[in-house]
Amino acid sequence: MSYYRVFIKSKKWTLRVIFHFVDVAVCASWLEYKKDCELYKIQAKDVMHLLEFKQVLGRCLTIVPQLQNRKRGRPLNISEVMQPTTSRFVRGEVRPLQELQYDRMEHLPYHDVSQEATRCKNPKCTGRSRIYCNKCKVHLCLTKDRNCFVIFHTK
Ligand SMILES: [Zn+2]
Ligand SMILES: [Zn+2]
Repeated sequence: MSYYRVFIKSKKWTLRVIFHFVDVAVCASWLEYKKDCELYKIQAKDVMHLLEFKQVLGRCLTIVPQLQNRKRGRPLNISEVMQPTTSRFVRGEVRPLQELQYDRMEHLPYHDVSQEATRCKNPKCTGRSRIYCNKCKVHLCLTKDRNCFVIFHTK
């Protein structure tokens, strides 16, 4: 907890106590996450450090309300759902956070109005599509013969 404490300059002890418990909850969930990683035999290099875990957690918690309020609020910027620049990031590829990709919430297909179809982002597909996922902001096939949209969102 002492590594990346929530930093507030408040003299109010109540606020400091509240943020202390936020720190406790975040650290406890990171330890839980590490246990899960062991359980699923995830390689050490792919396990997030506490700081990275906090960043992903923060983005996941702030992005869901943004998606829910998008009709009223500002449009979602595609860079906000991109992976952080880590070893797991494929350079030049726009990829959604895995935590969002597989959350099975509000992934809706939309039609792209541009002239040219865009490469489908389902790794096993070489097709092009004008359909994109409104949450992940990636193009995916959704035709009679190929449903990359479902494959992409299924683990
Ligand atoms: Zn999606
Ligand atoms: Zn495809």
